[in-house]
Amino acid sequence: MSNQITDVFGNNVFSVSVMRERLPKKVFAEMTDVMQHGGNISMATADIVANAMKDWAVEKGATHYAHWFQPLTGITAEKHDCFLTAPQDSKTLLQFTGKQLIMGESDASSFPTGGLRATHYARGYTAWDMSSPAFVKEMSCGTVLCIPTIFISYTGEALDKKTPLLRSMEAINTQALRILRLFGNTQASKVTPSVGAEQEYFLVDREKYLKRRDLIYTGRTLFGAPAPKGQEMDDQYFGVIRPRVGAFMADLNQELWKLGIPAATQHNEAAPAQHELAPIYATCNLAVDQNQLTMETMKRVATRHGLVCLLHEKPFAGVNGSGKHNNWSISTDLGENLLAPGDTPNENLQFLLVLACIMKAVDEHADLLRCSAACVGNEHRLGAQEAPPAIISIFLGDQLDDVVAQIVANSDSIRLLASGTLDSGVSTVPVLDKDGTDRNRTSPFAFTGNKFEFRMVGASDSIAEANVTLNAIVAQAFCQAADLLEQAEDFPGACSRLIHTWMTQHQRIIFNDDGYSEAWVAEAVRRGLPNLVSMVDAVPALTTPKAEALFTQFGIYTKTELQARAEILYETYVKAMRIEANTMIHMAAKHYIPTAIAYTARLAQSVCSVSAACPQADLSVQRKLLLQVNSLLADASAALEQLKPLMDRVDSIQDLREMAQAYREAVVPAMAALRCPIDQLELMVDKDLWPVPTYGDLMFEV
Ligand code: ADP
Ligand code: MG
Repeated sequence: MSNQITDVFGNNVFSVSVMRERLPKKVFAEMTDVMQHGGNISMATADIVANAMKDWAVEKGATHYAHWFQPLTGITAEKHDCFLTAPQDSKTLLQFTGKQLIMGESDASSFPTGGLRATHYARGYTAWDMSSPAFVKEMSCGTVLCIPTIFISYTGEALDKKTPLLRSMEAINTQALRILRLFGNTQASKVTPSVGAEQEYFLVDREKYLKRRDLIYTGRTLFGAPAPKGQEMDDQYFGVIRPRVGAFMADLNQELWKLGIPAATQHNEAAPAQHELAPIYATCNLAVDQNQLTMETMKRVATRHGLVCLLHEKPFAGVNGSGKHNNWSISTDLGENLLAPGDTPNENLQFLLVLACIMKAVDEHADLLRCSAACVGNEHRLGAQEAPPAIISIFLGDQLDDVVAQIVANSDSIRLLASGTLDSGVSTVPVLDKDGTDRNRTSPFAFTGNKFEFRMVGASDSIAEANVTLNAIVAQAFCQAADLLEQAEDFPGACSRLIHTWMTQHQRIIFNDDGYSEAWVAEAVRRGLPNLVSMVDAVPALTTPKAEALFTQFGIYTKTELQARAEILYETYVKAMRIEANTMIHMAAKHYIPTAIAYTARLAQSVCSVSAACPQADLSVQRKLLLQVNSLLADASAALEQLKPLMDRVDSIQDLREMAQAYREAVVPAMAALRCPIDQLELMVDKDLWPVPTYGDLMFEV
């Protein structure tokens, strides 16, 4: 088969063009109408579509179908059902009905529900999301037709990440259209958020990975001394891609293209063994689905190459961790991007109103945005001088910042700073037009020309929550603006005044300088901006009256759903930390301490045998090493002995939030106390005896 992108692209997707080819005209028209405008299709239509989907999938080798959904675990779930019908005369038929396509019923009790229902009320339903296309997935267990679905409980509560996302997209659509109408736009009939998610990841050798229990159980190293070389030479970022990694990337691209995912850029990232992939942006819910599929495909393809793809936010201490840049914009069905400032943003009233709304939204709901990026691995990243701080702020760049300052100062006419040209002084290189803004990589929410880039999301996390939050908070600001301006007699005047008022009220959220500096932390306190360092501190944002008002106003979450999600975040934190601490106990007791004991025995033996053979030999080096190793061994053993009973005490706490806090405040430092002597031992003990691959082995030998 040809490997040309255009031949491969979308081959495994039941796309609109496949539907056009395979469905009767009337059915196709009904389908595309519902896909674009919502509504229901008739059961007769569903039967025809299901049958066409099955025939198409079977031609691609599919034997099963699955409702593919995104429960609150953060990853995807699927149960495979065969197309077989009950055999008659030892013969069977392949069948896929409209009912099977539209809806599935499954036991929801094994997925996180945050107390939404007791285990014995276990029914959950999956329902087809027609706005995201079905696709065929080729896996070791066979080829499966996957139907993207939402997942809800018997009583209608969302048990997944897609349901609220779709609800939030409807909210921003409705409210953005109100804004457009105010500006006389009667043509646009839909406004949709677009998202491009840049995905960072690490690749390590599978054989070495399998020797490390911490990587297997937790996705990150819980022990490990720094390698002699880290990322200090800056020689990895954009560096030449090694052949083995290159082969992985080439294979990954093919797989993603088949799934209709426009993987577009790839490069080496800052840390050794770290890389990044970015697709071309897509409609918000499709981008969320595609990012899930990308993560899943990365893992699968890595295995084929004898590698393991680590999506953890911080697989290695001391070098950069991995995140996800969520590029977000909103545009109309006619192609107008509401975040495009045009050449003269200073005169573009609609753009300035949208900007004022976003400033208000981000300032008022900074805590919610921070919480939307809360996941256990991100605890090591946010505020750790490699990712944005946990303080939310907006970077606008010089030009827009100046425009805002002039508006706030009530200037009569608003001028635009020239962006200028760039002359390198080399006569053979053309003079370049500069961008209106420089980059600021320390900002969590940066304006990058015609989109905002939310940089807090963790590499392993779903981008759904971040986008639910962005859509919801901006929808609310649009709604408030429209409520005021729809009543105004002098629209341009009222609009200018509103922009002035909101930009003045929310100017504190703009910060263009170094977000990594200590000075910013102090400045943020002065400005009254929240700095929610840990996810445990961020979760309460979900259940404030402010959050409830926001999400219930647009029917995105009910109060109960919000409480359930908060509960799940605490629960996930506690469980992940418990697994990490237990893994440390296991590794210390079974791997490291026995190794150190063996090494001290070997040293002691050598002291004895050398002094027997040569009584006048100077054995001070051996003795000193023996004493040092022995002392670290004692430290490790003491730390180990403290950790277990401490966990027992913390695990007996009744309240989940308090338990999560105790894990963070007491267990995390106890884990660090165990790691410290063992990492020191690693630098002393004979390499042949060391029981696991080291940082150097893992990061530099891929
Ligand atoms: P940067 O270099 O600033 O990170 P890129 O041009 O490499 O930006 O794009 C990063 C991601 O943003 C890509 O996934 C890209 O498709 C996406 N993107 C570009 N334009 C938009 C837009 N208008 N809305 C949403 N995402 C976008
Ligand atoms: Mg980026």
